[in-house]
Amino acid sequence: MKKIVVVFISIILFNCNKKPETSQEVLNKEVVEDAIEPTTPEETEFYEPLPPTVNPTAQNGVPSDAIVLFDGSNLDAWEHSKDGRAVEWLLNADGSMTVKDKSGDIRTKQKFGSVQLHVEWKSPKETQAKGQNRANSGVFLQERYEVQVLDNNDNDTYVNGQVGSVYKQSVPLAKASVPSGKWNTYDIIYHAPEFNDKGEKTKSATVTVLHNGVLIQNHFELEGPTAYIGKSSYFPHPEKMPLRLQDHGDLVSFRNIKIRPLSVKEE
Ligand code: MG
Repeated sequence: MKKIVVVFISIILFNCNKKPETSQEVLNKEVVEDAIEPTTPEETEFYEPLPPTVNPTAQNGVPSDAIVLFDGSNLDAWEHSKDGRAVEWLLNADGSMTVKDKSGDIRTKQKFGSVQLHVEWKSPKETQAKGQNRANSGVFLQERYEVQVLDNNDNDTYVNGQVGSVYKQSVPLAKASVPSGKWNTYDIIYHAPEFNDKGEKTKSATVTVLHNGVLIQNHFELEGPTAYIGKSSYFPHPEKMPLRLQDHGDLVSFRNIKIRPLSVKEE
């Protein structure tokens, strides 16, 4: 009997010394209890939603869901950006087009939001121009967010305005140009900014750029439209806007321009 009383008292003392569980410990316990571990491979395999099928070479090497903006045959998809008149840039026999100095920027007639864009560009092989005046052009997403085009070969300039920069906002991660006079490629993934009913920005634009296959902008979040002078800040604009190519007074050529609108609105 004496032995039983000792055991009983020991149990009471043990429970009195035991610390109460913290709220975190309770939460952890609940999380563990709630987590039902999959027990078969099939439990983590899904069959819907089905992604759409895209034939990557359906249109002479262009994906079936891409819009061909320029294939060398005509300039029908484009207009001058100031007044909408017919494009005066030069249509070349080799399937490219070249800036006509002082004729002005051109833009697509069609408007776009978020896109995947492929564009090829070439600077003149020989030029005496320096700095920002050597084969300067630009790919302006939604008419206002510029990925810089420039011949930087043996031609230094401010790095946030060099080839592949998001002009005056983001220095490229690398300079990946081919020799002057050869064709460069830009592959751009752009997510448009979003604005609420009051015109306040709720989501910044982002841009990813591969220059000749080299990642040079990695999901960069834009501060607003790219500006020549001063700080940038957003102002509201429609969800869809044209793509613009810059006439900076230099004889830059373009070819093979195709675009895939991205319909996915991310949270
Ligand atoms: Mg430019």
